[in-house]
Amino acid sequence: MAPPMEELGNDFINRLISEYYKDAKYLAPERMSEREFGVGNYDIKIAYRHMSFGYENALRSYLSANSVPYVSCSAAYYRFPAGRPMEAKGWLGSELVFDLDADDMELDCQKVHGSRWVCRNCFTKVREETIKLVYDFLIPDFGFSEKDIRVNFSGNRGYHVHINRENVLQLDGASRREISNYIAGIGMEFGEFFPTAGIRGTTLVGPKPSDTGWKGKIARNFLSNLNAGVDSMMGMGIDRSMATKLYRKKSLIEMGIRNGNWDMVYIKNKADFWKRILDRQAVSQSDRIDKNVTNDPTHLIRLPNTIHGGTGLVAARLREPRALYSFDPMRDAIAFRKGHVRISAKTDYELYMGGQRYGPYGGEINVPTYVGVYLYLKGYAKILREV
Ligand SMILES: [Zn+2]
Repeated sequence: MAPPMEELGNDFINRLISEYYKDAKYLAPERMSEREFGVGNYDIKIAYRHMSFGYENALRSYLSANSVPYVSCSAAYYRFPAGRPMEAKGWLGSELVFDLDADDMELDCQKVHGSRWVCRNCFTKVREETIKLVYDFLIPDFGFSEKDIRVNFSGNRGYHVHINRENVLQLDGASRREISNYIAGIGMEFGEFFPTAGIRGTTLVGPKPSDTGWKGKIARNFLSNLNAGVDSMMGMGIDRSMATKLYRKKSLIEMGIRNGNWDMVYIKNKADFWKRILDRQAVSQSDRIDKNVTNDPTHLIRLPNTIHGGTGLVAARLREPRALYSFDPMRDAIAFRKGHVRISAKTDYELYMGGQRYGPYGGEINVPTYVGVYLYLKGYAKILREV
């Protein structure tokens, strides 16, 4: 009897990674020689750091020769990027970076499929969140333009947004925290926005849609829910009878709010109303201490256009922020496009990759290499052989 054939493991993935990097393009970040790099293995995403690369070719050869499954680089620029300890590097400035991950969004679908699986809803929601960050905050409130903003897929289930305009480079940790709190809607009080609330005999004065910053967002958000109808308003914590009444008088209410007069709106459960309006408008960012890139100017983050060793996808940089509207990571960030593999898989849900549906699986099947690798790295399949 022939011995059972050996499965393909990390060696197979390493070979694909090595091939990928041989002619990978756009690996060099801006001011590459001033950045610190870190590389990882399948167990630890950053196993070695304090590395530096002077040229794109040096990096490309290193990644290919060592089949590196994770590569990160600093948001910071240093005089001596390989220096250690950190103080010896000579910090010159840091990009402002935002890290958005579907796992931080408390999505209902994740309660069903867990955080390892990433479904289409996860991808859609985190993409919408990134669009909100760029187009509701970074551009209108902070005055950045699209060309200041670089967006890349994280390689798994999120997006990274980098800003390297001159005036953000010197921001310290506290200022970065202030920016991320503002975007997350942290520290805002109802009373600041409705100064006359609770004072008898006064008009309820509130934000106008034409206001800048959070005030305008709150007014516009309320008006869009008002116009969307009763269910939308109930979603904001307004009860059905009140929502129905408001909807009937919506033209009058809208006219009032356009002038900052909220007296046509009876806000009964203020706290609830307030929480919901903020939740809808704020951007959920990663607040896990170990990966809060926005607040920590020395953090390392995935190098755009490199492989994510937990998925086999590319942390693909988008041509421009606007490309978010049509970007699909499971179509646009596929790395290993060649060939097919036979896998033994166990999945409970459908997977969409390269415009096709795969699974659910409970057994052996031939699939494109990128599907097999994705399921293998996620822990849902064994790769039996190339076919
Ligand atoms: Zn999901």
